[in-house]
Amino acid sequence: MNLKNILSATFCAFLAACTTSPSGEEASVDRRVEDLLSKMTLQEKIGQMNQVSPYGSEEEMLGLVRAGKVGSFLNLTSAELVNKLQEVAVKESRLGIPLLMSRDVIHGYKTIFPIPLGQAATFHPELVQAGARVAAVEASSDGIRWTFAPMIDVSRDARWGRMAESCGEDPYLNAVMGVAMVKGFQGDSLNNSTSMAACAKHFAAYGAAEGGKDYNSTFIPERVLRNVYLPSFEAVAKAGCATFMTSFNDNDGVPSTGNPFLLKQVLRDEWKYDGMVVTDWASATEMIAHGFCKDRKEAAEKAINAGVDMEMVSASFLENLETLVKENKVSEKVIDEAVRNILRLKFRLGLFEQPYIVTEQSVKYAPEHLAKAKEAAEQSVILLKNEEEVLPLGNSIRTLAVVGPMADAPHDQMGTWVFDGEKSHTQTPLQALRSMYGDKVQILYEPGVAYSRDKRTAGIAKAVAAARRADVVVAFVGEEAILSGEAHSLADLNLRGAQQELIQALSQTGRPLVTVVMAGRPLTIGKQVEESDAVLYSFHPGTMGGPALADLLFGKRVPCGKTPVTFPRMSGQVPIYYAHHHTGRAPSGSETLIDDIPLEAGQTSLGCTSFYMDAGFGPLFPFGYGLSYAQFEYSQLKLSSEKLSQDGVLTASVQLTNTGKYEGTEVVQLYVGDKVGSVTRPVKELKAFQRISLKPGESQVVAFKLPVSDLAFWNVDMKKVVEPGEFTLWIGSHSEEGLSAGFEVI
Ligand code: BGC
Repeated sequence: MNLKNILSATFCAFLAACTTSPSGEEASVDRRVEDLLSKMTLQEKIGQMNQVSPYGSEEEMLGLVRAGKVGSFLNLTSAELVNKLQEVAVKESRLGIPLLMSRDVIHGYKTIFPIPLGQAATFHPELVQAGARVAAVEASSDGIRWTFAPMIDVSRDARWGRMAESCGEDPYLNAVMGVAMVKGFQGDSLNNSTSMAACAKHFAAYGAAEGGKDYNSTFIPERVLRNVYLPSFEAVAKAGCATFMTSFNDNDGVPSTGNPFLLKQVLRDEWKYDGMVVTDWASATEMIAHGFCKDRKEAAEKAINAGVDMEMVSASFLENLETLVKENKVSEKVIDEAVRNILRLKFRLGLFEQPYIVTEQSVKYAPEHLAKAKEAAEQSVILLKNEEEVLPLGNSIRTLAVVGPMADAPHDQMGTWVFDGEKSHTQTPLQALRSMYGDKVQILYEPGVAYSRDKRTAGIAKAVAAARRADVVVAFVGEEAILSGEAHSLADLNLRGAQQELIQALSQTGRPLVTVVMAGRPLTIGKQVEESDAVLYSFHPGTMGGPALADLLFGKRVPCGKTPVTFPRMSGQVPIYYAHHHTGRAPSGSETLIDDIPLEAGQTSLGCTSFYMDAGFGPLFPFGYGLSYAQFEYSQLKLSSEKLSQDGVLTASVQLTNTGKYEGTEVVQLYVGDKVGSVTRPVKELKAFQRISLKPGESQVVAFKLPVSDLAFWNVDMKKVVEPGEFTLWIGSHSEEGLSAGFEVI
């Protein structure tokens, strides 16, 4: 490929962009799709539906492309090879259809941002959007124009390792963050060489894997599917998310990749989605292992007829679709529709005008990208405890003991799904504390245990000795990156290895103990919270986690993250989430817990309510929880009306005052509970939130406009309606507290 080709292709794209209006663009895309489709043989159409992971020799790959047998590659990051393959596709395949290069760019490409669960903890969609934009700019510089993100599976079970990749337990938060990521990846227009097509995954209900075990079956009835698991997908579909990915799980016996209810009725007929649907990795042929298809041919038939457009890696389409068409088991019309969806995306991405890489390579780890990653890391950290205001660390501190296996773990702090970020670029807390604050305080570093699973206790004595010499101890504990993510489920959510012994030993020194947890999920850290004076929870914070945490510890930044999932006390409580339904036996608070049960107590003496004798009822920390160095007070809840019609809009406001000494940001949260429904309803649901920054002594009225239509749910008749009746509204700092008032919908 030579420069002249690139320039002329770029110029054509520029002209096309200048001379057509957006709707004109779409019309011309449709015309071009039809024109191209009419020239394609059945084999060429099937070739477009095939996504390939690099294998064999370069010559073999080039041969497949030349023969028109590949529509997309995943996981190619060599700019040179990408351009070479494109050149063969464009110049040597019969119709010159460019390839679509894809990869899992989940929370950054080179500059790694906090894992998605951490990004969700920011409750800051604009920042999340900016992070996705950085990822797109960096990844597209290696020719990646399609990412398999956002993952917006509602995740309520911390045993499931993929909770790390999600935006947590709440349908609304997943929707808001999912839309933000789509906007960031796709930019203002897909037809820009720095845009990547986004992919909403995994459609659907994958996060409800039974027992938190990855790939496990789900049993989610249609109403719960529609009320809880689908809204985030509908939101991103409406926001223009270019592609969807089917999920691995079977729900109530039907694998998603062969589920026409999801892929046709909901996605196409109800949501009018015109993007492209890809399977998950070999999820078409995995329908054989599920016991849903007898062989690869039946897998191809069921997947295409259910509504899949492109098959990821398992090649059963390439192998069988032609025969299936001949046998009238698959209609060519169905294939045409799939190919239309694929070609439309390629035209929208501008690949026909500019198939080659044009972006500067120097964008990787650009200073402004690192600055954004630091900001995201800062805002993702949650202050869970701060007794006697041990944080921020004051000027009187002369010696700081830095302890724990995550203090200097450049690989592990990047978290799961990092293929391209390099640990040599990671800034760890130890490095950052030394370089940013080393002139003010003396830093004594003793890891105590070497890595999170390390069971050896020999190093703990040295850590304790360092603690005794210090004014304050900061212990960085948690999980290595490999302990969360795909196929990394856990049954035990406690800190692993000798980390619990380490925290206990440090707490016994009597020195103020600040524990910083870096993990891919909420861990059951109740005991360590008790033993520590302050606790900061940082989901794996990425490349810039170190400087972010250093500035938070020393008060240059003020924590404002909020829990995007409920933190359990014990893993036996999961799945645990705030928006559970009312039972007939809500706990009264007077239940007898296990250590207080008298000997030979009577059968009904414990309270007969819905609780655990050993864990009680509540979580360790509720959803939406997070402290600040500032103090916020809520007052004067006001509703614009106590009675609203179906088309009404409720305005609800509170006064928020910063009564503390630090400037800080509060995430003001609005929840609504529907008191009586034609089916039972969640006790409350997050409907809106706002981030408000206030200086000490400052007050602000925070107003929300809530359209009554936002209260709609799928009811007993499987219709999405707002049922008239009474509602309770709360505005507060987390899901278990807030000022409340009632209103009625008539
Ligand atoms: C995962 C997807 C991912 C795909 C491609 C699968 O194993 O479930 O989330 O996008 O691999 O790497």
